[in-house]
Amino acid sequence: MDILLLGPPGAGKGTQGALLAQALGLPKFATGDLLRDAVKQGTPLGLTARAVMEAGHLVSDDIILGVIRDELAKPAAANGVIFDGVVRTIPQAEGVAEVLAGMGRKMDKILFFDVPDADLLHRITIRRQTETRADDDPAAVAIRLEAYRKQTAPVVAWYEAHGGITRVDAVGTVDKIYERTLTAVGQ
Ligand code: AMP
Repeated sequence: MDILLLGPPGAGKGTQGALLAQALGLPKFATGDLLRDAVKQGTPLGLTARAVMEAGHLVSDDIILGVIRDELAKPAAANGVIFDGVVRTIPQAEGVAEVLAGMGRKMDKILFFDVPDADLLHRITIRRQTETRADDDPAAVAIRLEAYRKQTAPVVAWYEAHGGITRVDAVGTVDKIYERTLTAVGQ
């Protein structure tokens, strides 16, 4: 089963994605985590992506689609993947659909984690105190939210027109949201 998690920065995609991956026995694939690792290791991908990420902008579609193709070619991805924040533009949505179709697959479920803006800022502020992410400083967060509104919010409408999405009320405790997430994937 291939499941895509959509939602603004701070919506809890990473937390719920990890729980879901464990419950379903599928690998979780987060482009954000993969890019952060590449930056840490100083790989060519990391060197290209670093400044863009730190400023809060989106990495180019070409780079992201290359990363997605590599990830889906891995044996571990053969039975499906939890895609956490992997699709952030319409060209990426189209590209992923094409790669999956080439494997005889499609995005089986698209979950949209719905959180009001005020909660997002609060969550990111808390995350900033526990994790050290260069892009969680207030200026970069504002740019990330803007990138989300301009480039990623239209992706929700794209999926609505291509098979439909399932909304998850992502306000509440991790346990409560997890219950709703499981229900949304039919577990
Ligand atoms: P995240 O950990 O999901 O918040 O991602 C951190 C940063 O990585 C984002 O602000 C972008 O700069 C970059 N990034 C991650 N996934 C993507 C994607 N699918 N498209 C473009 N940029 C991405």
